[in-house]
Amino acid sequence: MMIYSTMSGKKEPFQPMHKNRVNIFVCGPTVYDDSHIGHARTYIAFDVIARYLKHKGLSVFYLQNITDVDDKIIQRASELGIEPAVLARKFERRYLEDMRTLGVTNVNLYARATEHIPEIIGQIERLVDLGFAYETETGVYFDESRFEDFGKLSHQTLEEMERHRIDPDPTKRNSGDFSLWKKREDGAEVTWDSPWGRGRPGWHIEDTAITETYFGPQYDIHGGAMDLIFPHHEAEIAQMEATSGKKPLVRCWMHTGFLNVKGEKMSKSLGNFMTIREMLERCDADAFRLFVLLAHYRSPIDFSEEVLEQSRKSLERIRHLIRIIEEQLEMPGGIVESEEVDPILIKAKVGFLEAMDDDFNTPYALSVIFDLVRDINRRINEKTVSKKALKDTKQLLGEFGGIFGISFSSGLEMSAGKEEDMTRDLIKLMIEIRQKLREKKDWELADQIRNRMKELNVVLEDAKEGGKYTLSEEDCLNRKAYNLR
Ligand code: AMP
Repeated sequence: MMIYSTMSGKKEPFQPMHKNRVNIFVCGPTVYDDSHIGHARTYIAFDVIARYLKHKGLSVFYLQNITDVDDKIIQRASELGIEPAVLARKFERRYLEDMRTLGVTNVNLYARATEHIPEIIGQIERLVDLGFAYETETGVYFDESRFEDFGKLSHQTLEEMERHRIDPDPTKRNSGDFSLWKKREDGAEVTWDSPWGRGRPGWHIEDTAITETYFGPQYDIHGGAMDLIFPHHEAEIAQMEATSGKKPLVRCWMHTGFLNVKGEKMSKSLGNFMTIREMLERCDADAFRLFVLLAHYRSPIDFSEEVLEQSRKSLERIRHLIRIIEEQLEMPGGIVESEEVDPILIKAKVGFLEAMDDDFNTPYALSVIFDLVRDINRRINEKTVSKKALKDTKQLLGEFGGIFGISFSSGLEMSAGKEEDMTRDLIKLMIEIRQKLREKKDWELADQIRNRMKELNVVLEDAKEGGKYTLSEEDCLNRKAYNLR
């Protein structure tokens, strides 16, 4: 399998450090607000990467940090007049909910920065002892001039990097030196005790303290979007390689392209964002995943409602085929009798795996799926397909869907989301229970259920056969009336 490495600037054969085991770390969110669909793009890409590595039989440990102490969190919390920790927990919870809804389910461990303060302090102490870091009146800084490989990931010279630094501090030795520990007055901000007095960690050090804790000084894959290459990932390399003396920190550096709006990166600061929650009100999570995977993970994606709509239609084409296959399989007799594996399916499987082995080329893998859907549809119309081939197609599409984290199954085609389906099923269950209670003339409990459901915005109307319910205006899932007959 070949993976493009930002470090070498080319695709390289991927070989895990420890036989069958792959340790992946991806920079997690700064939890001061709801995540937007640009974040979702990056996390869906790495979710699929983890899924595919598992599919290849590798044992994957996927670690993500949560930046829960940071300038933005402190500023937002002070604007709202709440504790930074309260704000951070709220948006961490919402982030995790968003990830679950998007099917981003392969992270093994989320590690909060604030729960690794001893490890952070320990790493800074070692850097100071080794002469790579120094203390001033404002904090502790990494001395970039002492680390000769500084710039090797972003392929820049010291001068080029210094031009980009926006962190002037007269106490620093070099303008490009970055902060490891920020000295702060107790009470004014969130602070911890340290050998340098009260303060809080800089941004870059939390990641190497966390990865060293769980993976040691070296591991397989580090990911994030391209904006993190410099200075963040460059700083991580300097911190960890200087501390451990071991190179490289990471075997393969993987960076996703941006999700853009009219050519500009979607970001909170530019105000051109759509939150994951807003997107999910308009679009099924599976269709959004398909939209993301229609681009290669390193390419930019220009977000537009039209392309999202295209993805919805493409998903429906695949689901439609599965429905047709299910109907065909239920019909008596065969279209064509054959127990041979159809060559179309062999071609599709080989094509899909080749695409994914080539630096996770999901757009190519999807084109293989669309070709398969077109060919099988044609063969069904021509009545030249065997039942075995239909069964195999359904199974293969299920396998591909599992790798992409997308349900291609026919059961979901009418729903705007799995949660909505479940809500509907639960409401139906409550109605059935009420029906039984009414048959037993337990009017009191039946009315109690109806009143409680009304409080939850579900209005029940009794009818002879099955009943009917309406979700009232406030309900965020759907505003239709449902007949249960
Ligand atoms: P943040 O919370 O801003 O640190 O971002 C969390 C992750 O999302 C990082 O890996 C970012 O690089 C990534 N990210 C932020 N904005 C975008 C975007 N518009 N497109 C793709 N990835 C993004």
